[in-house]
Amino acid sequence: MSRSHPDADGLDVPETAVRNRSQFADTLHLPDPDSDEPSPACVESENRPDADFTDVPVAAYPHYKLCENPDCFGSEWW
Ligand SMILES: [Zn+2]
Repeated sequence: MSRSHPDADGLDVPETAVRNRSQFADTLHLPDPDSDEPSPACVESENRPDADFTDVPVAAYPHYKLCENPDCFGSEWW
């Protein structure tokens, strides 16, 4: 059963995010504004130096989680 993002309620979610091309990926990240390549704003790219990220429309991936890193969709450190 897929629904809209439960985490996205009340959040200002952009239309475009980046995702790992891996078939195992299940998380959307905010694009890194300082990068020419599609790259997540958080440390995910540093954690996965071999990963290949691509720009995607958020609306096309309603079953993906939104990255909880404050650099992405998380609002604060807990
Ligand atoms: Zn992220």
